[in-house]
Amino acid sequence: MPELPEVETIVRDLRPRMVGKRITAATLSKTDVLRKVSKPALLKFLRGSRITAITRRAKHAVFHFAGGRRMVISLGMTGALVVYNRALTPDEVKYSVLLLELTSRSRFVYRDIRRFGAIYLLDQAAWTKYDARLGPEPLDPAFTPEVLGAQLAGSRAAVKKVIMDQAKVVGVGNIYANEALFTARIDPSRPASSLDGREVRALHRAIVAILERAIKAEGTTFRDYRTGTGQPGSYQLRLNVYGRGGEPCRRCGHRLVTTHSIDARATTMCPWCQG
Ligand SMILES: [Zn+2]
Repeated sequence: MPELPEVETIVRDLRPRMVGKRITAATLSKTDVLRKVSKPALLKFLRGSRITAITRRAKHAVFHFAGGRRMVISLGMTGALVVYNRALTPDEVKYSVLLLELTSRSRFVYRDIRRFGAIYLLDQAAWTKYDARLGPEPLDPAFTPEVLGAQLAGSRAAVKKVIMDQAKVVGVGNIYANEALFTARIDPSRPASSLDGREVRALHRAIVAILERAIKAEGTTFRDYRTGTGQPGSYQLRLNVYGRGGEPCRRCGHRLVTTHSIDARATTMCPWCQG
């Protein structure tokens, strides 16, 4: 599933290609992704509207419109948001959920094979509520080791589960949680509240550094994820643990181990470096 670096990459690609443009046509092919809005209401709103900004919050892309309304797209497992400066091929329209024409040449498509994604249309009050349910942004300067420490201190759940909890800190999913805990040399199953100050600082540093590096690499592509221009990312070439169970640890050479004991998600770690 796209995590913070993937959605940030998409938003950075869409921004120069869509902001300031008016939507001339909108087509919605599937309605099961709609939340808090009906198909006629969404299409009526989108047609003729001008996009004033595109931002990211957590793992969601946020399209801003004049008047303060926002369309939020959450990508779920298999969602992709791509903008093309040409007509689309049949393959590019396949699995299309939402298609927007911005000018005769510029087209945006939200594609989603399995449709675990969602589209919200929110006014200012609904956005404030939506935003308030999400935790701090890890790349915001206000996200300090003290902020992370306070989030961890209150929970005896596994530290990996806590850093993936979007109410505690946003944007970190299974890939980057595995990577950050390896870099910080912390056993993912440790109770979050058991980390000492030095470990919290190491984990904070690892989360921030890995997310920034992954953004530079335009995200991690295993299957469905594509950038906002339809290209794969390249961080999959630099992963230390995620997807490498059974392979040697890049730090000590011992075999990496994968378990499903935390929240039934794949956890890969080095028992020697993260003991
Ligand atoms: Zn190791």
